[in-house]
Amino acid sequence: MQVGLPYRISLDAINPYIPGKRLEEAVKELGIERVVKLASNENPLGCSPRVYEAVKKVLEAPSRYPDGNSTELRAELSRQTGLTPQQFVIGAGSFELISFVAETFIGPGDEAIMPVPSFSWYGTVTRLREGKVVPVGLTAEHGVNLKAILAAITERTRVIWLCNPNNPTGTLLPGEELAQFLEAVPRHIVVALDEAYCDFIGEPGYPDSLEWLYRFEHVVVLRTFSKIHGLASMRIGYAAASERTISYFNRVRQIFNVNALAQAAAVASLRDKDFRRRVFDNNRQGKEYLYGEFQRLGFSYIKSEASFVMVHVREDSDPLFQQLLREGVIIRPGTGFGMKEWLRVSVGTEEENRIFIEALERAAAGGLRLLRQAGSLSG
Ligand SMILES: *Cc1c(COP(=O)(O)O)cnc(C)c1O
Repeated sequence: MQVGLPYRISLDAINPYIPGKRLEEAVKELGIERVVKLASNENPLGCSPRVYEAVKKVLEAPSRYPDGNSTELRAELSRQTGLTPQQFVIGAGSFELISFVAETFIGPGDEAIMPVPSFSWYGTVTRLREGKVVPVGLTAEHGVNLKAILAAITERTRVIWLCNPNNPTGTLLPGEELAQFLEAVPRHIVVALDEAYCDFIGEPGYPDSLEWLYRFEHVVVLRTFSKIHGLASMRIGYAAASERTISYFNRVRQIFNVNALAQAAAVASLRDKDFRRRVFDNNRQGKEYLYGEFQRLGFSYIKSEASFVMVHVREDSDPLFQQLLREGVIIRPGTGFGMKEWLRVSVGTEEENRIFIEALERAAAGGLRLLRQAGSLSG
């Protein structure tokens, strides 16, 4: 007799994550040496040179367990921000921090509100907790709709997921508006503010969200070392919140969740402001270049405060994605975000951006030719 294993029913609603094509895979499949990967918002300038020295030191004793409290890193964060070390918890990337929020605050039947499209992991962790995802669409300008989110609050709401700047649209909530929103949200609801791209914000006078932690107990700020620090392979990020909330995150956290290499790399990177400045400048110049080229090609785009740009290619971006792939250029088609005629491209180096634009121009022109052929057939 066939006996079924007790797979939890709620897991049937979750699709295993299909990771983006790996660089090496793509190279092998296509037989192309030069692959330009602009699909996952990785840092085009790599990471701080200081990271290599720090990591080498850790490798002298790989047999030792890491510091389960990431003491040095939390001390450095405290020094740089003015918050207490007890206001930080370190996670294996923001992915894990997002899980901490769900495990701490969401139970079966609880509701969590999230903008759509945004970072899909918020929805997954909510469902893993057997909570209910309440999706709220963006504004006509592709920004997070705070008014609609407030209106979606019910008695069962436990968490509001916000991504600022928002991935994949790159839009930024004005600081003033966000502060008013935090004020309006009932204090028993957690606002998880994912700021993976906060270091790329070019808006002058935009407030440092960590300041809000002094005023609001219900805010949790999530930041990562994967983007401006260029340490995506290391898996490390931090959450900042009240000491009380952090003490709860430490209950759901496994002791050695962050490895020693990642901790050392993060400390070294935090101390290298020059590297971050270079990344910021490259990103700003890259966006200006892309905007100009999109205009030249007749594509509209969403002005981005992050390290990627969403562009309206006015045709199904899946075939366009395939076409670009054949040229060794990997981008993210908009389909997965429910934005079929858009594509998201990470800002690369000057050369990578140029290669992308040239490939896009060829691929899009091919599309236009097909359109014209279809038109001539019908008339
Ligand atoms: C990249 C990204 C993350 C993932 O960060 P990790 O620290 O690499 O886990 C989290 N949130 C958003 C919105 C991102 O774009």
